[in-house]
Amino acid sequence: MGKKRKVDKEKIKVATKMLLEAIGEDPNDPRFDRTPERVAKFWDEFLNREPQINIKVFEENHSGLVIIKDIPFFSVCEHHLLPFFGTATIGYLPKGKVIGLSKIVRIVNKLACQPQLQERLTDQIADCIYNAIKPKGVIVVTEAVHFCMAMRNLGGQRTKTVVSTMRGDFHENHALRSEFLGLISAFSP
Ligand code: ZN
Repeated sequence: MGKKRKVDKEKIKVATKMLLEAIGEDPNDPRFDRTPERVAKFWDEFLNREPQINIKVFEENHSGLVIIKDIPFFSVCEHHLLPFFGTATIGYLPKGKVIGLSKIVRIVNKLACQPQLQERLTDQIADCIYNAIKPKGVIVVTEAVHFCMAMRNLGGQRTKTVVSTMRGDFHENHALRSEFLGLISAFSP
């Protein structure tokens, strides 16, 4: 899944200088000596944190809910290019196949490490797991703090955005959904 993203560092350096200039700073001031270079390096590292993932699937007849709770992620909102970060909790009801747990963490990282929207990130995580193991159902809940809101004093740093999405059985099966919600709150600190 995915491949290394090509990042044009020279272009980022030019753009960073232009941005500094545009906000009334002197890009040639010694304070900013290595800033354009650091910004370019940051984007390369961030976008390629998980260059490639081989999704490992195991044949397994487990029939109960599998929940992976509070996977941390860091992303960048595509509207402001500012960070949003939080956690993803994933539940699925297998149908003969399960997915390696460490791979789930890496899938979340991979999908988060790009300009994103929290809503789309949540959907993409669900689709990725659904397509990989075709379970009876998948549910994903993400909660995140958005710097573009917090830094402008819109809601402050404690305001969290919670997004959920589901596939398959979770849509119609209320008991299944309640079981998921019960289990994730039972293990909350
Ligand atoms: Zn934003």
